[in-house]
Amino acid sequence: MKLILLGAPGSGKGTMAAVLKNEYKITHISTGDIFRANIKEQTPLGIEAKKYIDQGALVPDEITISMVEDRLSQDDCKNGYLLDGFPRTIAQAEKLDEMLAKSGSKIDAVIKVDVPAEIIMERVVNRRVCTSCGESYNVVSRPTKVEGVCDVCGKEVIQRDDDKPETVKQRLITYEENTKPLIDFYEKKGIVICADNSESPEYAFSQASLALAKRGFRKAE
Ligand code: AMP
Repeated sequence: MKLILLGAPGSGKGTMAAVLKNEYKITHISTGDIFRANIKEQTPLGIEAKKYIDQGALVPDEITISMVEDRLSQDDCKNGYLLDGFPRTIAQAEKLDEMLAKSGSKIDAVIKVDVPAEIIMERVVNRRVCTSCGESYNVVSRPTKVEGVCDVCGKEVIQRDDDKPETVKQRLITYEENTKPLIDFYEKKGIVICADNSESPEYAFSQASLALAKRGFRKAE
């Protein structure tokens, strides 16, 4: 099964991805996570990507597409995957279709994670993430037990630089301009599934899994 998670920054794609990955035993590919790992390691890719990420802009298509192409060629993608944060532009989506068509494959479903705009800003600026395992927290609704320390692995929990209010505003504009048109792109193919994540990730997941079941995709035993 090949899935895409589509949603604005702060819509809860990461949380949904974690649940989907466990329930469907599927490889999770987050382009944001790959960029952040490269930034941490100070690789040439990371140094280049950081220039854009820090401004709330998109990393250029040619860099992102070749990174994803490389990732999708790895063994753990043979039986499907969940793309989180990719594609983010029509050019990326077209290129993905092209890559898949070469092997006679296609995307099975696009899960659109819906959250009203007013909730998003609050969620993102309150978000904190573990620098080591990536676990996500919220200073209001899900704080760490010890401030700044990850409950799961004990490493440092921080606010992402691009989660600061000014950058979030720009990321939301970037989403509206570049990524939202993808909803139309995939709706025309009839593969969009809506998951309302304004209440809880459990509810959003139940909607998504029902819709996937109707399309013949079942959770792993
Ligand atoms: P995320 O963790 O998915 O919110 O991604 C963090 C940042 O990484 C985004 O704001 C972009 O700057 C960059 N990024 C992630 N995925 C992509 C993509 N598919 N295309 C371009 N830039 C991306």
